[in-house]
Amino acid sequence: RADVGLYRAKQAGRNRTVLESARQLPLAVELRQAIDQGALDVHYQPIVSLSGDGSKTVGVEALLRWSSSAQPDVTTEGLIRVAEEYDLISDLDELVLRRSCSDAARLQETFAQLDLTLNVNVSGLELAEAGYADKVSGILAETGWPADQLVLEVTESELAAESQTAIANLHQLRDQGVRIAIDDFGTGYSSLSRLATIPSDILKVDQSFVAAIRSDSPAPPLLGVIAALSKSLDLQVIAEGVETEYQAAVLTELGFALAQGYHYSDSHPVAALINDLNEHRGLVGAGVPDADFAA
Ligand code: C2E
Ligand code: MG
Ligand code: MG
Ligand code: MG
Repeated sequence: RADVGLYRAKQAGRNRTVLESARQLPLAVELRQAIDQGALDVHYQPIVSLSGDGSKTVGVEALLRWSSSAQPDVTTEGLIRVAEEYDLISDLDELVLRRSCSDAARLQETFAQLDLTLNVNVSGLELAEAGYADKVSGILAETGWPADQLVLEVTESELAAESQTAIANLHQLRDQGVRIAIDDFGTGYSSLSRLATIPSDILKVDQSFVAAIRSDSPAPPLLGVIAALSKSLDLQVIAEGVETEYQAAVLTELGFALAQGYHYSDSHPVAALINDLNEHRGLVGAGVPDADFAA
């Protein structure tokens, strides 16, 4: 796993990832300390409905943010990989889940008219641990966030469909009302029969498919297939990485109901999120005093 992209490096004018495994251990040590001190941030990116006026926020995705003082160029994906390799992922994911549920619960308490779903990423390794579903219900009870407003996202390629423990956790979570999203869908080489065995509710179409929607070329045929597939399997579908008005229009045409991407909003700390919802999404409404929501 060490040979995959942990660090960005400029090469031939493009962002590329390079092997730098020697930098992993010090990073892991620093990350361990940050987890123990709770010194990590969680930012939130709106998920919007494409129907209606095309800009109603229906949920947010929690994304880990942390900058290593020694190695400021590390990406979130790189951090996650180091956490997985050095056995920190369980504590890291737990911290993000607890923090985001508690942030969301406080937001909801302050702005009663909000009705948001919270999406949180979980490592496939963590999902395959016995007792994971119990841990999630413990955190929900502790923070007061309702199970039916939580979505756990697991990346398609990490889903260990052959792991009985992972499947049992997914069933238990869904029985509690938590929904499951398959993240980066389309890149993990799932067969359709495998997909049918994974208890899931939502497909998040990988952003590479969305990036391929350009006005100078035909829309990728797989997008239409995924839209039809999700409809017949009764799964919700979210398009990730929507950056242009044109992409949003094509996705709407193809029948996608939900989207996420820089075209709508980047991720924000919780205190800035409420401003974003106020100013751009029309969600909170005029009656709400300007956000002095303290993080
Ligand atoms: P993801 O779950 O697929 O999250 C979407 C990624 O796309 C995020 O990158 C987000 O900042 C980025 N993004 C959003 N809109 C756009 C857009 O319009 N264009 C482009 N090009 N990118 C966009 P980020 O935050 O760097 O996270 C990378 C990955 O790290 C995530 O991919 C997720 O798999 C993982 N991750 C993040 N936070 C956590 C966490 O708390 N736990 C675990 N296990 N994994 C996490
Ligand atoms: Mg995700
Ligand atoms: Mg992902
Ligand atoms: Mg994704």
